[in-house]
Formats: sequence, C-alpha cells, structure tokens
Amino acid sequence: MRKAPRGDKAPPAALAKPVKGRTELEHAQAHYADPYDPKTGSYGFKVYKAAEVKERLDELFFGKCAYCETFYASSAPVDIEHYRPKGAVEGEPDHRGYWWLAMAWENLLPSCIDCNRRRKQPTPKPGANLAALDQTARFSASRIVLTGKKDLFPLAPMGVRATGDTANLDAEQALLLNPCEDDPADHLVHHVERAPLVGLVLPKGPSAGVLPAAAAALAEVADAAAQLGLSVRGAVSIQVYGLNRLGLVQDRTRVLRRLEFLEVLIIELSSIIESLEDKTDPDVIEAVRKLESLKQQTLAEMNAMADVRSPYSSMAAAWIEAFTVRLLA
Ligand SMILES: [Zn+2]
Repeated sequence: MRKAPRGDKAPPAALAKPVKGRTELEHAQAHYADPYDPKTGSYGFKVYKAAEVKERLDELFFGKCAYCETFYASSAPVDIEHYRPKGAVEGEPDHRGYWWLAMAWENLLPSCIDCNRRRKQPTPKPGANLAALDQTARFSASRIVLTGKKDLFPLAPMGVRATGDTANLDAEQALLLNPCEDDPADHLVHHVERAPLVGLVLPKGPSAGVLPAAAAALAEVADAAAQLGLSVRGAVSIQVYGLNRLGLVQDRTRVLRRLEFLEVLIIELSSIIESLEDKTDPDVIEAVRKLESLKQQTLAEMNAMADVRSPYSSMAAAWIEAFTVRLLA
C-alpha cells in the first residue's frame, strides 16, 4: 500500500449528476428518511460505477489496487470499493451502511477482487518462523484465514459509529488504513527474508518482524498488536485486506527475485569495474566505460521498480533502501 492523496481536483462530475431532478444523494436521503420502514431495503446505488469514476481512480492509483498494489490489467475487472461500506456494516445488523457516502468521491477506492471480497485464504501463522515459509506451493506454517474487506469497518474501542449523514466521521477512529488519507508507511513495514526469498507486510513498531501472537479474530489481532507496541491500524489492515495471503506473497516474491537478480548484477559489475580501474590499455578503458553504462542502466531498472506506477512499488522501495545500506556496509 502506498500513499495516494486525492489532491484538490474537483470530484468526478458523474457523482453529482442529477437523475429525475435530484442527485443520488438526495434520492438516498429520501429513501433512508424512515430508517425503520421494513419495506426499504438498500438503495440501488449507481453513480459510483460511472466510467469517469473508474478513470479517475485508475489515474490516482496507476491501475493498481489501492490496498495491495497489484496491477489489474485493463482486461481484469476492478471493484470500485467503498472504504466505508455503503449497504451494511458487518457485525452490526441494525446499521444500514454508510449510504450517504455511496457516491462520495472521498469514499471510493479501486480494489482487486481478493482485497475486497470475503474469502478464505492461506496465510502465514502469526509468529511463524518466516524461514519456514515454503513459497513453492503453500506456506508450510500456514492457516486458513478469512480475509477481504467487504462490509467490514472496524473501529477503535473508543470510536463512535456514524449512523447518518450528519455524523462526525473522525469520531469513529477507523482502524482500516485509507491510502488517500493515511500514510501507510507510518503503519506498515515490508519485511523481506532472503533465504528463502519472501516478503511479508508487517505492522510497524519497535518489534517489527514479529507478527502478533496467536491472534485470529480482529479484536485479538488489535489487542496483540497493542501489547507488542505495533501499529494497531497496521495489524488490523493487514488482516482485513489480506496483505499476506498466499497468492499475493507469491506474486510479490516474483518481483523480489527480479530485484535480487538486479542487485547481484550491480554488485558484480561494480566489482569488475573496480578491478579494471587502474588499467591504461585503451581497449580496457573503453570496456570499463561500457560496463559503467551497463551498471547505470541496471540501477535505473531497479529504481523503476520502485516507481509509483509499478506493482508493489512500496516493497521495491523498501528493498532499494536496504540495498543501499548493504552497499555501504
Ligand atoms: Zn488488492
């Protein structure tokens, strides 16, 4: 996940376009006016699906999932996700969802199917020895965890749930990270094991690298993270968005392999250049010049992987930072 502020460009006009003389928000306000009317189901929200909204979200997130940074190709479907769920809140049967935010630009994010839909995913066990994670098939130390956001919107214990369009959203103390408003780097860290190569997202804190112990339910994850001094919002977001689900970890590992290959290449080239630096033979000087150019191209290739447009760019940036430290060591 990486930060993507919406900036001050006006929201997509489609979201406020009137239908039969009223905006969708006005229709929804009328629909939900009597919250106890048993006949009033969820409103059939539509404007958030407009092509213009999709385009703006693609632009903001460079065609990547807002949560996991997976690149969804133009052929793959993207879910326009409501950060605050529009039709229901899981675990609160009386809540009718954040219907007044169904067409609010600030509440819309592009999400891949796996981050958004609730399904069971193999995920490393909390506290599992990372070196024991077997990348080739399944995690050897995994368990099946129900991940995916859907209608989940957990709050901190002191948070006050908003129930209508005049409520104060800040008072909710939302536990899920929102890449448009939060800086994920304050709450999440990329932990990379070198042998075997595996990259996990962990909650930030003094003991980063240690997953919350024996926690399964969200409240347990939050408690365990708090006790370890880890970011509670980070820990809850990892669990809800499923940021360490097997398929995603494997996909990230492919990127890590490429980074590792480029790193080896850069180190080897540097070493050859260094060994030839004192030579005066014009042919050798020319060869060194070409090797130096090759090294710069390889470095540029590595840096491009951390570009905001690249998949898993925040992980690649973390790799490059660690690589720089390794170079100086
Ligand atoms: Zn995703």
